[in-house]
Amino acid sequence: MKTKEILARARQENRTILTEIEAKQILMQSGINCTDTRLATTKDAAVKLSEQLGYPVVLKVSSVDITHKSDAGGVKVNLKNKWEVENAFDAIMRSCKAAVPTAEIEGVSVQVMAKPGIEVIMGMIKDPSFGPVLMFGLGGIFVEVLQDVAFRIVPIEKSDAEDMINEIKGRKLLEGYRGQEPADVACLQQMLLKLSDLVNTTPEIEEIDMNPVFAYKDGAVVVDARIILSTA
Ligand code: ADP
Ligand code: MG
Repeated sequence: MKTKEILARARQENRTILTEIEAKQILMQSGINCTDTRLATTKDAAVKLSEQLGYPVVLKVSSVDITHKSDAGGVKVNLKNKWEVENAFDAIMRSCKAAVPTAEIEGVSVQVMAKPGIEVIMGMIKDPSFGPVLMFGLGGIFVEVLQDVAFRIVPIEKSDAEDMINEIKGRKLLEGYRGQEPADVACLQQMLLKLSDLVNTTPEIEEIDMNPVFAYKDGAVVVDARIILSTA
């Protein structure tokens, strides 16, 4: 679906939270690489999609009422065959219904299992005085514990994207660490620029959270995305 249609449908349904599938469709249309993520409303459809995409796959609960999917038991990774997909589907439904009994669950999203990379996060929040601000950081404990994050006001230029990535304290981890391959920093800079363009041209978006993004020696991919729209 086109970005405009996704936004219109959300408005019509009176919701400000987009699903991961919708968020990734919008990001993809802005030229930001995401894992190909599709909706399955039944167990059989989940198996069919898994076979089309190719194992291993990841299943996640798809519900606008569950934004923190793992907390609700809504994420199952590295599923290697039909049997594992069927079990994961049942387990996700069971635990999500228990965790959020009022949630409306449209089904599960199915996506290929991305190969491991260096985990980074990118996002956008709206500051009451500065307006949209982009965020970049390393994933996991670097953000949660060390709050090692760089911010810039939108729109950004290429030099801002470079500076954002350079100024985080964990910068060295992007250069390769303990045998890990370095991250494609040029690609990450491009992603930040594309994110800036998206935010600049789509004022309806209130918040974006791409967490995690896997960075590789060549390229990077968004494996989880959340978008929140403004209420006005
Ligand atoms: P949450 O809503 O809890 O943030 P995520 O979609 O981020 O859910 O999934 C939780 C974790 O599962 C991610 O941090 C990542 O490590 C892993 N994961 C999710 N999707 C994929 C994928 N397509 N490939 C590989 N790992 C994934
Ligand atoms: Mg996530």
